[in-house]
Amino acid sequence: MFISVKAPAKINLTLDALYKRPDGYHELEMVMTTVDLYDRIDLTAREDSAITLESSSGFVPQDERNLAYRAAVLLREKTGIKRGVHIYIDKHIPVAAGLAGGSSDAAATLRGLNQLWKLGLSLEELTVIGTEIGSDVPFCIYSKTAFARGKGEILTPLPSPPACWVVLAKPDHGVSTADVFRHLQVNQIEKHPQTEKMINALEGQDYESIVQYMGNVLEPVTMEMYDTVRKLKEKMQLFGADGVLMSGSGPTVFGLVKQEYRVKRIVNSLKGFCRQVFAVRMLGK
Ligand code: ATP
Repeated sequence: MFISVKAPAKINLTLDALYKRPDGYHELEMVMTTVDLYDRIDLTAREDSAITLESSSGFVPQDERNLAYRAAVLLREKTGIKRGVHIYIDKHIPVAAGLAGGSSDAAATLRGLNQLWKLGLSLEELTVIGTEIGSDVPFCIYSKTAFARGKGEILTPLPSPPACWVVLAKPDHGVSTADVFRHLQVNQIEKHPQTEKMINALEGQDYESIVQYMGNVLEPVTMEMYDTVRKLKEKMQLFGADGVLMSGSGPTVFGLVKQEYRVKRIVNSLKGFCRQVFAVRMLGK
């Protein structure tokens, strides 16, 4: 028995931190959506009860530290299932990039194993399990467009943005999400994104307003740590993207582009500055 599942990358149209909670996490408000850049998760039933994992990328752990592996272990614990599985991750999403690649792999593994092992769990039940793996996993289980609160696990679905291109540029280094949040001074944030306006813009399918209200309070923090992020953003603006923002804790910078003829020019120009540049479509509804 074999199942193949897609694990798309997410981008933040907004990311706001409201305050630091007693548990040490920040209370967040985020509008997130998914783009047409995927990892592929192949799940093959094993004769024995072992869980094994392999990835096409040397940049991710190939053992129990991998979030997809943890998803399989947790699902077995929660359901009492004893079956084994081989997980193969064909990795395309850049690692430690702010695109939730690991969380998306974990979410896809939960969805895929639910089918492979015929567990019959609802998406809601998978979400509860996903929360234990990471704050972005619940969003990745639904994998569309949503307003996320709390640590990112309280979700309200939203309409996806109108069709456009998304150019993604990832500097040659990664970023530790924990590091960025450690440097964030929540009482010194100069500009909070207007989340409500972004939600209205999505509901009205108003592309210009979506571009106008993109904002991420982590962007200046990561830029302070890595000048490459600031430079990439400036370049992408200069080369003609409609709106440019860092995703998550970075360092990936993405640009929304409505007109197809501009995309090639932006991609080619950016390739002089970093190796990982992608042009993909926004994922539809
Ligand atoms: P987020 O935006 O959710 O903070 P990210 O996109 O910044 O995530 P990931 O690509 O998910 O970062 O990787 C973060 C860390 O998780 C990496 O250092 C990596 O070693 C580890 N990791 C574990 N499993 C995976 C996986 N399946 N894919 C990518 N990274 C993984």
